[in-house]
Amino acid sequence: MKIKDVDFETYNKNYPSSDGYFGKFGGAYIPDELKPAFEEITLAYQTICHSSQFISELRRIRKEFQGRPTPVYHCERLSKYCGGAQIYLKREDLNHSGAHKINHCMGEGLLAKFMGKKKIIAETGAGQHGVALATAAAYFGLECDIYMGAVDIKKQAPNVSRMKLLGARVIEVTDGQQTLKEAVDAAFKAYLNEYKDCIYCIGSVVGPHPFPLMVRDFQSIVGIEARDQFMEMTGLLPDVVCACVGGGSNSMGMFSAFLNDPVEIVGVEPLGRGKNRGDHAASITYGSEGIMHGFNSYMLKNEIGEPDEVYSVASGLDYPSVGPEHAFLHDIGRVKYETVTDDEALEAFYLLSRLEGIIPAIESSHAVAYAMKLAKTKKTGTILVNLSGRGDKDMDYVIEKYGIDWLEKKGIKL
Ligand SMILES: *Cc1c(COP(=O)(O)O)cnc(C)c1O
Repeated sequence: MKIKDVDFETYNKNYPSSDGYFGKFGGAYIPDELKPAFEEITLAYQTICHSSQFISELRRIRKEFQGRPTPVYHCERLSKYCGGAQIYLKREDLNHSGAHKINHCMGEGLLAKFMGKKKIIAETGAGQHGVALATAAAYFGLECDIYMGAVDIKKQAPNVSRMKLLGARVIEVTDGQQTLKEAVDAAFKAYLNEYKDCIYCIGSVVGPHPFPLMVRDFQSIVGIEARDQFMEMTGLLPDVVCACVGGGSNSMGMFSAFLNDPVEIVGVEPLGRGKNRGDHAASITYGSEGIMHGFNSYMLKNEIGEPDEVYSVASGLDYPSVGPEHAFLHDIGRVKYETVTDDEALEAFYLLSRLEGIIPAIESSHAVAYAMKLAKTKKTGTILVNLSGRGDKDMDYVIEKYGIDWLEKKGIKL
């Protein structure tokens, strides 16, 4: 399929198809026993997303609990430092709990409530999705089971404490590598046994249908707000919109509002230590078509075609696949995907802190780093970056590993 075959005016209605496909990507590759559970969620979501009660309740939550709308901010000092195009940030870091993930977690929690479920379950890797979901569970008075690999539990002690403080049960998974993949398997297995009383809440625009659709819809508030705010500030559309891509939820939320505009859209993938296998998690740039976690998309594979080991300094970005809608938008040529290394992201992390007083999440720093590179070569115009989260969670690790004086050590003059 080519870009000219897609009508972007009606895009959100027609994509995905009723069985969850964006072109050949997406779908629901799940065991037969799980099909009724996912069909139940699909049906409930399709009904509820048109209900005025659901919509007005979600609006109220966003305003009163999350602190939306989050602002758009013009980075004057950072733009001056780059010496070219002007950089703007959509401040998703200012959401309650510090990142965009709360946008879909509150949506999923409200859906659970409307469906009369008592419990929500999910897996978590670094713990960010677990914390956002535990926040939603506390708000709605739902039980919350979070499956987490034993290795991750040791590494992410503060997030484990947060989840527990918020009332969630953190269930240790000790199979295999004891990380995210095994946690997903364990959460799916639990869901199979408990789906009458609970719903499964995925952490990004990934997984079987209807999750890529639902999470995109819940995240689309980011782009809708940002587009209006940017037009109000400047009178124009931005020339370029960019966001970091892990599973792809903050980026889809941002991009969905601009697909029908004459705006260049760029997804930024993590190149980690470089392009050798195992050193990065750039699934679209270096992956090939493959099915994992119940959906078809681009995937990084090992010799035997299984999900490869991946790496990025940003634990929220190290996933060996990507949301199916991104794979589709890449293939038709509507969105361009570029990469940023650990070092480039770190430079953006330190520079945004120093020049603007904003400590970004190391994931979001990838998008900022790309915008900085582009601003230097593009002499005029505007770049709107989705700043998906704040960097408090990364600060200790970054300072310990790279030093408080990294900019000085690199000889970077401000
Ligand atoms: C989890 C996370 C991401 C990556 O997830 P997407 O689904 O790709 O958005 C990016 N930024 C932050 C701050 C995160 O916590």
